[in-house]
Amino acid sequence: MLNIILLGLPGAGKGTASAPIIDKYHLAHISTGDMFREAMSEGTPVGLEAKKYIDGGNLVPDEVTAKLVEERLQKPDTTPGFILDGFPRTTVQAELLEDILQKLNRPLTSVISIDVPEEILVERLSARYICKNCGATYNKISNPTKVEGVCDRCGGNEFYQREDDKPEVVKNRLKVNKEMNTPLIDFYTAKNLMTRVDGNQAPEKVFAEIDAVLATK
Ligand code: ADP
Ligand code: AMP
Repeated sequence: MLNIILLGLPGAGKGTASAPIIDKYHLAHISTGDMFREAMSEGTPVGLEAKKYIDGGNLVPDEVTAKLVEERLQKPDTTPGFILDGFPRTTVQAELLEDILQKLNRPLTSVISIDVPEEILVERLSARYICKNCGATYNKISNPTKVEGVCDRCGGNEFYQREDDKPEVVKNRLKVNKEMNTPLIDFYTAKNLMTRVDGNQAPEKVFAEIDAVLATK
């Protein structure tokens, strides 16, 4: 059983790295960003609340986010193991997660931080595009679809750019997330769970580094 957290600033490649890990280890992918976007598109109360923060690149309040994760972790597909992508993002969330996992008796196996210099993150976020049908993530510069306009994964031909990837929002997102990142890394380093990988290399190499860590668990 692998219970993993992927840390990394927006655009570090958490979602991209999650895909091959999930395929190989059959883990549930828990992305709080994806869950909020789904809730927003459905117009649920959580979605309406989250939108107030997400549109400006700010963090959704810790309790709202932790409750979403707690509910998600009670679904049976997470029993064989899970990847948390984008949660926790603050030390308060990390503490709340400790309580949740203790209650559910699901200890963490490993925390992996994907490290990428900030200048590169700005570039990556502004060039990110996503398949409307299956959510696969691409990049106009570093990681385009193999056939232009056709999703590698599902063959879909409609794509979109995230509202919060537009330059006016990206700046604040990176600022807000950066402030919280070092304390989180310290939190898990103190628990002997932390591994840092170089995210500024090809996606296959990032996956190989992560896989080497997971193989020892
Ligand atoms: P996150 O989930 O951490 O926000 P994504 O996985 O969505 O990040 O990746 C952000 C952008 O960078 C996407 O456009 C993606 O295609 C691209 N990307 C992801 N990993 C790499 C990589 N190792 N090298 C270059 N570009 C990458
Ligand atoms: P992401 O897809 O991970 O980049 O998340 C998109 C947005 O959702 C973030 O900019 C936040 O506004 C919100 N969000 C996602 N995860 C969290 C979290 N763990 N805590 C607070 N806000 C979050």
